[in-house]
Amino acid sequence: MTAAEVVLSWGAATHEGRRRRVNEDSYLAGDGVFFVADGMGGHDAGEVASALALEALSPLRDVARVDPDVVVDLVAAAQERVRGIETGPGGRGAGTTVTGAVVAYQDDVPYWLFVNLGDSRTYLLSAGTLDQVSVDHSEVQQLVDAGLLTVQEARHHPRRNVVTRALGADDTPSPDFRYVPLVLDDRLLVCSDGLTVELTDERIAQVLLDHPDPQDAASCLVEEAIAAGGRDNITVVVVDVTSGVGGTDRTTTTPRGAFVPDEDTVPTGAESWRGGASVPGQED
Ligand code: MN
Repeated sequence: MTAAEVVLSWGAATHEGRRRRVNEDSYLAGDGVFFVADGMGGHDAGEVASALALEALSPLRDVARVDPDVVVDLVAAAQERVRGIETGPGGRGAGTTVTGAVVAYQDDVPYWLFVNLGDSRTYLLSAGTLDQVSVDHSEVQQLVDAGLLTVQEARHHPRRNVVTRALGADDTPSPDFRYVPLVLDDRLLVCSDGLTVELTDERIAQVLLDHPDPQDAASCLVEEAIAAGGRDNITVVVVDVTSGVGGTDRTTTTPRGAFVPDEDTVPTGAESWRGGASVPGQED
């Protein structure tokens, strides 16, 4: 006997912001895999780094049983690809954050397997309360942990962009992992720091609560971050758990706006779907 499939509905939006010429963020969404990557490095290397890293992680979409070992192997492959990016003489080297979540089963119970490297963030909105699931790998987070900065001060600190872990760094990448059970009506938010530097967690929560549709929520968050200054690239992925929690069957994700006649069919290439995003300047 099989229970209902887990059904996820998602939306995504990305924008270069007001001050940056290039959008160095990328995202991967669909088939139970939701990531944001924020690239860094001169000569547009950051744009390449974030895209390559997520391309290297995209086989997660075809893994029947995801666990941290599978992710670690793919992260190692992603690391190789990012380290191989040519940044030219005097180049700072390419790097990228990676954060997000994959649907993973334990004893046939579906969980979010959260993965984080760097200072992009994953949040969970549950029963009206927004909690940051990922812990930033950043200098300012270390100062917050030490009691030397408040969260509010960290958002505006001059060294807020300095990450302590990332793909492409000299160290072997060491992502954080965390399992959280999937709960019906929970909403996942994955975003780059271009969102969180502009909007407080309280404002982000309000926008998520005000927009039941995940694409509307993602687009609105990006628009508000641009209106608030848009000092960095902004990328937002919003995912709703719409039915089937507790199911034992395979996971199906249904991107809203992907006009497929049979909604049980997962469209290939759904990660490049841009329908409904109301902002220009998306990557690809
Ligand atoms: Mn950024």
